[in-house]
Amino acid sequence: MTQPRAVQKEPSMLLQKELIGGHYDALARARDQGKKVVYTFVPGNLTELLRSFDLLPVLPEINALQSAMRNKSAGYIAAAEKGGHSEDVCTYVKCDIGMLRSGNIGPTGQPLPKPDLLLLSYTGCFTFMKWFELLRQEYDCPVAMLHVPYQPDGVIEPHQRDYVVRQLRTEVIPMLEQVSGRRYDEAALRERLALSAEAEEDFVRVLESAKHTPSPIDAYFGGVYYVGPIFSAFRGTQEAIDYYRLLRKEVEARMRAGGGPITPDGPMGQERYRLVVEGPPNWTSFREFWKMFSDEGAVVVASSYTKVGGLYDQGFRHDPAHPLETLADYCLGCYTNLGLPSRVSLLERYVREYRADGFLINSVKSCNSFSVGQLLMLRQLEQRTGVPGGFIESDLVDPRYFSASNIKNRVESYLQMLDQRRGAAVSA
Ligand code: SF4
Repeated sequence: MTQPRAVQKEPSMLLQKELIGGHYDALARARDQGKKVVYTFVPGNLTELLRSFDLLPVLPEINALQSAMRNKSAGYIAAAEKGGHSEDVCTYVKCDIGMLRSGNIGPTGQPLPKPDLLLLSYTGCFTFMKWFELLRQEYDCPVAMLHVPYQPDGVIEPHQRDYVVRQLRTEVIPMLEQVSGRRYDEAALRERLALSAEAEEDFVRVLESAKHTPSPIDAYFGGVYYVGPIFSAFRGTQEAIDYYRLLRKEVEARMRAGGGPITPDGPMGQERYRLVVEGPPNWTSFREFWKMFSDEGAVVVASSYTKVGGLYDQGFRHDPAHPLETLADYCLGCYTNLGLPSRVSLLERYVREYRADGFLINSVKSCNSFSVGQLLMLRQLEQRTGVPGGFIESDLVDPRYFSASNIKNRVESYLQMLDQRRGAAVSA
């Protein structure tokens, strides 16, 4: 029997792993070191603000996907379903609840501290609210809610920004002061925001490298590693700056050398298809899923999923000159907070600017926030761009909904169809 080849790792991947692992270490030590922790979500997270109070963030979605990549999610989901949670509930939620019921041991095998605060930054997904209602029943801790108005047409109105800033001043910050025992320090927040902006600049250069042919990155499968630090606990830190600087250097060197993305099986062969992907990836069979594309020379040049924690590539940077306003703009502009017309326009821009041959939708069973309207998006995108779309179905962290043969079949058929269209275009 042949053994799978060991995963190949570049220095930036090793550093990314070290950062994420280090954060779990810090969480495991938090109680002993007298540190307070805040559970909060990835879209609309207020990491710089939390860190300015010396609070540590815990991101439940990251715990769920990390658990899935380590084959732990199926057991957690089963435990949650046994406890009465329906099969239709978002599997991130069930994975989290199951983990909690199983001792709240995090994905790296270390205990996660209980929250001192549940900070619900409500950016577009109703499940966020139900999720924290469940956690509130489990933990004896306060809850703060930041209500972020939905962006139906993608334009942030001044009154919406003011509304979010007012809540930050009157509800979120007083609660953080109470939990941390510290006063709000705007100078400390500004420093954090300046660090964020520096890292965001390098991150965007990495994403935009995919405009080059061949693309030196895969902006979906590789992209999920790249977004790790900036979407989770590291915005506003020197570590994030160091990571994105190193990553950008590696990617730019590959681009100069005409190299393609580095996959878990090594450098990808010749680039044959350039795709845009909408929707989150499957985490339980992540490597197998990626291989279905990389084996065919299909590289994802842009994806919506790598925008759930902020649309930096559309020009947004955290602005230390306007600390609370910039946090408000960040929350308002997250992908999950955008209406369908804005999502379609964004994907259309990606198809054009990254010169994609096609776009593919991965519709995940769990996530209504992503899946609702995707068939309409497919039709509109085809009409607007003239580029054919494909549609596959899987799930986030529930392995019961990842059918490898079906997905492989659909991906291969879709790529063959792209080939046929090219052939037809040449002979016309
Ligand atoms: S439904 Fe989607 S956006 Fe909402 S919590 Fe689940 S995965 Fe996240």
